[in-house]
Amino acid sequence: MQTIELLGKKFVTSIPREEIEREVKRVAGEINNDYKGKRPLLLGVLNGAFMFAADLMRNLDIECEISFVKMSSYQGTITTGAVREVIGLNESIEGRDVIVIEDIVDTGLTMQRMLEQLSAHNPSSINIASLFLKPARLKVPVDVKYSAFTISDRFIVGYGLDYDGLGRNLPDIYDAAEE
Ligand code: 5GP
Repeated sequence: MQTIELLGKKFVTSIPREEIEREVKRVAGEINNDYKGKRPLLLGVLNGAFMFAADLMRNLDIECEISFVKMSSYQGTITTGAVREVIGLNESIEGRDVIVIEDIVDTGLTMQRMLEQLSAHNPSSINIASLFLKPARLKVPVDVKYSAFTISDRFIVGYGLDYDGLGRNLPDIYDAAEE
């Protein structure tokens, strides 16, 4: 087990890069099957999903496009989760088969808000592909069609996921160490 420190907080290795690669390939295989003959638009959610989106797309052999969006930050009402907006959607998604690529679905509030807003643009279909899912933390029902890993309630970093901006470059996943 390898321990690292980010901003004075300790993290220990949890999921090695080989396992991530294997699961990302599995998810890509499911998408290749389900979207055969279609041309989905992958919508990566920045910042956390950039690495997953890149590796996932590298493993798709169907026609596909990619674009990235962001959710605006909370503006004082974290509890309602109602003030976040999708920003950076530059192309029309009307009539498109959209696959939202997310790093982790925790409470589900981010994805719920994202789906509400994207649906208003009349895509033909929307599905979610999330690298991680924390079912124990879900507060709202969110249908995650594709997920690489289901994990317990713990804080993770690496492979695009950060701790206060750091750790996104780590090729493996690390768990926050017990204090
Ligand atoms: P939700 O709206 O589902 O509660 O939050 C999802 C967002 O919270 C993710 O996109 C991610 O940015 C952040 N998040 C949730 N759990 C974790 C975690 O364990 N590690 C990191 N680095 N970010 C997390």
